[in-house]
Amino acid sequence: MSPDKRTAVELADALAAGETTSVEITRAHLDRIAAVDGDIHAFLHVDAEGALRDAAASDARRVAGESRGVLDGVPIAVKDVMATRGLPTTCGSRILEGWIPPYDATVVAHLRRAGLPILGKTNMDEFAMGSSTEHSAYGPTHNPWDLDRIPGGSGGGSAAAVAAYEAPLAIGTDTGGSIRQPGAVTGTVGVKPTYGGVSRYGLVALANSLDQPGPVTRTVVDAALLHEVIGGHDPLDSTSIDQPVPALVEAARRGADGDLTGVRIGVVRELGGEGYQGGVLTRFEESVELMTKAGAEVVEVSCPHFVHALATYYLILPAEASSNLARFDAMRYGLRVTPDGDPSAEDVMRATREAGFGDEVKRRIMLGTYALSSGYYDAYYGQAQKVRTLVSRDFDAAFQDADVLVSPTAPTTAFKIGEKVDDPLAMYLNDLATIPANLSGVPGISVPSGLADEDGLPAGVQILAPAMADDRVYRVGAALETLLVREWGGRLLDQAPALPAVGDAETPEGVR
Ligand code: GLN
Repeated sequence: MSPDKRTAVELADALAAGETTSVEITRAHLDRIAAVDGDIHAFLHVDAEGALRDAAASDARRVAGESRGVLDGVPIAVKDVMATRGLPTTCGSRILEGWIPPYDATVVAHLRRAGLPILGKTNMDEFAMGSSTEHSAYGPTHNPWDLDRIPGGSGGGSAAAVAAYEAPLAIGTDTGGSIRQPGAVTGTVGVKPTYGGVSRYGLVALANSLDQPGPVTRTVVDAALLHEVIGGHDPLDSTSIDQPVPALVEAARRGADGDLTGVRIGVVRELGGEGYQGGVLTRFEESVELMTKAGAEVVEVSCPHFVHALATYYLILPAEASSNLARFDAMRYGLRVTPDGDPSAEDVMRATREAGFGDEVKRRIMLGTYALSSGYYDAYYGQAQKVRTLVSRDFDAAFQDADVLVSPTAPTTAFKIGEKVDDPLAMYLNDLATIPANLSGVPGISVPSGLADEDGLPAGVQILAPAMADDRVYRVGAALETLLVREWGGRLLDQAPALPAVGDAETPEGVR
C-alpha cells in the first residue's frame, strides 16, 4: 500500500473540505507504521486504539462544527522524552521501563487540546544523550534513506517517522541539536524554538538550561503550524517566556514566495570549513547563492568563541544532567533491582542504576559530578558559564550585522550504524554547528539543502535568529525551501532515491 505523503497542511485542507476523515488519515498512518516500522524502528510504543479514538472524536467535532483549529484531526508522533498520561514514557532508558506517567507534559496537553491524535512515542538516545539514536536501550532507529545508517539523534525516531511517512508531524526536543541534526540527515525540517518559547513542563529533563521542545515536519509551514499549537507561556515552567508567540504561520507563508529582498544573511565563518564534508559545504554554498539571487544581502560574520562551544556544552550539559538523573533512585519510578541478601536502600539504588543506565549516561554522570565537585567547580563549571556568556555576546554582535545567521546544520551526512557508537568524541562532533544556539537560547531551523554525497544522502542548512524572533527563521526557511524546490522540481524527500521502506520514486533530473 502506498503511503500517505500529504503534508499536514494538505491533510488539514482535505479535512476542512470534507474530503476525508481523521479516522481515515490516522488509520492510513497506523497501517504505514505496521508495514515499515519493523525495518525503521522509529516507535517505541504505538497507541493505535488511543489514536483512533481521538480521531473519531475529532471527526465528531467537525461534523458538529466545533473543530478546534487547523490541525484538529491531523495525527502526530511524540518523542518518548515527553510525559504522556496513560502511555509508557521511557526516555529510551531501561530505568524508566514500565513507567506510565499520571500526567501530560504541557506540549502534549496542547496537542490534545488542539485535537491531534497521538500515534505513539518515538525512539531516542537514552535520556536524549547522543546523535544517532544508537544509545537507545531499545535498539537503534534506521534512517529511511538507507537502513544501514543512523537517522541522527537524539530524536532519530521522530525524524525517521516523519521521513518514512509514518507520521505527518512529530515532536522532538533539542538540547544540543537533537531536532535539527536528525532533520538534516533525514531530509526533514526541524525547529528549535527560542529557549522558553515552548514549555519544558513534563519533559524528562536532560539539561534544563538547554532543553527546548519543537516541531519535526516535512515542510517549513507545517512546522510553523505545529509551533503555534505547542508554543506560549506556561506558568508550570519557571523559564517559560511570558510573551505572545510571534505570527509564525504568517511568516512562513510570506517567505514561501521566495523573495528575500532586503534580508541580511550572515554566514558564520566558524561554522564551516575543516571537519565538514565537502558535499555538505557545496550544498550550503549553493543555498547561500540562491538566497543572494532572491535578493538577500549576504555578509560574512565572525563568532570567535563558537570554537569553544562544544567544550563548554560538554561541561554544562553533564553537570545539569548528573543532577537531574539523581532522581532515578529506584524508589520513585520504573525499574528496581533488589540484590540478594539483606540489601540497604543504597545497595538497591546502586544495583538499579548499574542495571538501568547505559554507558553514555554513566559517562555523563561521572563527567558532570566531576565538573561540579567542590575542588573543581570554578575551574570547570564556572569557567564554562563564562564562555557561555562569550558565545552569547558573539551572537549579539553578529545580529547587529545580520537578521539571520546561516551554516550547514550537521558536518556530515548520515553515517553507518556502528561507525561512531564507541567513539564518544566523534559522536559529540555532530553537534558542532547546532550547540551555540542552545548555549544562547536563540531559535534555529534546519531545512533540507540537497543530496550531499555519492550515496545520495541529504544534508541541511541551519538558519538562526535572535531570541523571540522565531518568525525570521520561518520566513527565511520557507523562502529557501521554495527556492530549492523550484530548482529540484519537487520536494527532496518525496523524490528521494534509495528509500527502501518509503517508496520507489526515481530521482528526477535536477535533484542532487
Ligand atoms: N547530541 C547532543 C548530546 O548528545 C545533543 C542532544 C540533544 O539535543 N538532546 O548531548
